[in-house]
Amino acid sequence: MKIGIIGAGALGLTAAYELTKLGHQADIFERAPFIGGQASTFEIGTGRLERGYHHLFRSDVDIVNLINEIGLGHKLRWIESKVGIFHGGKIWDFASPKDLLSFGGLGFLDRLRLGLVTFYLQKTNNLSSFEGVTAKEWLERKVGRKPYQVIWEPMLKGKFGRYYDQVSMAWLWNKIHLRVASRERLWDKEKLGYPMGSFGEVFDVLEKKIREQGGHVHLSSGVNKIVVENNKAVGLELNIEGKGIVTKEYDSIIATTPSYVFGRLVPNLPESFLHNLKKTSYLSAVLIILVLDRPLTNKYWLNIADRDIPFVGVIEHTNFVDPSVYGGNHIVYITNYPSVDDPIYTMNGEDLLEAYLPYLGQLNSSFDRSWIKNYFHHKVDAAQPIIGVNYRDRIPSHHTPVENLYLANTTQIYPEDRGTNYSVQLGRKIASIVLNDGTT
Ligand SMILES: Cc1cc2nc3c(=O)[nH]c(=O)nc-3n(C[C@H](O)[C@H](O)[C@H](O)COP(=O)(O)OP(=O)(O)OC[C@H]3O[C@@H](n4cnc5c(N)ncnc54)[C@H](O)[C@@H]3O)c2cc1C
Repeated sequence: MKIGIIGAGALGLTAAYELTKLGHQADIFERAPFIGGQASTFEIGTGRLERGYHHLFRSDVDIVNLINEIGLGHKLRWIESKVGIFHGGKIWDFASPKDLLSFGGLGFLDRLRLGLVTFYLQKTNNLSSFEGVTAKEWLERKVGRKPYQVIWEPMLKGKFGRYYDQVSMAWLWNKIHLRVASRERLWDKEKLGYPMGSFGEVFDVLEKKIREQGGHVHLSSGVNKIVVENNKAVGLELNIEGKGIVTKEYDSIIATTPSYVFGRLVPNLPESFLHNLKKTSYLSAVLIILVLDRPLTNKYWLNIADRDIPFVGVIEHTNFVDPSVYGGNHIVYITNYPSVDDPIYTMNGEDLLEAYLPYLGQLNSSFDRSWIKNYFHHKVDAAQPIIGVNYRDRIPSHHTPVENLYLANTTQIYPEDRGTNYSVQLGRKIASIVLNDGTT
């Protein structure tokens, strides 16, 4: 079969790898001048760095298997994560049940209740009981208002911005449930994975394998339109840098774009399917990456539980991967998940940095802007689908109303949180669906 794939993120690359491995022809068309999509990397000093911070959990077996299969298993390191929470003007350790018990932001009974509820969430498998209720409602009821406001609300706001009170408890349950798998024993500290050499190296090797297996990855090649004849997808209309508009024919097409992009690519999609696509909203990710001459904190992952601070997380990558990888520099992501109409999204990098700078001194009283050797500003669109209550009912199907046209994207990952692991899983799944349909 000859398959056209839109998007060279983890999903599109995995699908092409699987299809070409079985002798089919797969061509990927990627709008950006680089591969990797949301997990793409850029050169920084002597190393390569993800545009948005990235790590793996122990439960991420699909991507770990793929990394092993393409011969990069020896590059994978599992490193103890250093998690903290900034609350009441102070950074608290927040990596283990012991840390929770000694957290000074709540009274003893609140901490105990929080610990017991978290333990219950780690142990229960009753997903259906969480699907119809928001995380806010469930948590306020079970842990009480204050523990919810101090611990959970900042986390939900951090991830879902203005949609924080609409997020399903099923999403949060799964997140907690899976993270336990990152510990051998409950009281152990969590270990997170990172492919030394960056996620970019994983994608590079994957691309090389696709090429060796006869496939192609075309960069700076945005798809304008999916060509449909008699309700069958027959080709792609491409806008190729330097070549202009080109049309290519395919037996089947896999789109890995966000749902709203997909809706624009297909002429005359039935309103019922379009309506389903529009049901899921997305947030973007906006990142300021500081290159410092010394550490800012001693945490890898710092949740900011103080709403007066205009960012929701500080991820100090070099408290996870050694600074020597980046020429001795210290790398700090300052992150937000805004909607596209939020000033944090529309502001330029310089203004955003200026807006953030006054608050860094709260995280480290010695901080001085002279520590900043360089900075980068990145925006990632459609970074986080909003997982509302009864989300299962609004997941679009992989089969679209157009024959030989398939949709596979992050809105179809549920109840897990979107992530490279699930895009790899979906890449394999969609390849097998396409092949199955082609032989029946
Ligand atoms: C800030 C941030 C932090 C994250 N942290 C982690 C983490 O720690 N661990 C983890 O596992 N995951 C993490 N993720 C999530 C992970 O990166 C994504 O879930 C995953 O990479 C999505 O891959 P994908 O291929 O499904 O989609 P994408 O990466 O979005 O790929 C889709 C591709 O389609 C292309 N495209 C769109 N329209 C067109 C068009 N018309 N023509 C051609 N190409 C088109 C896009 O340019 C893009 O490259 C993070 C994401 C962000 C934003």
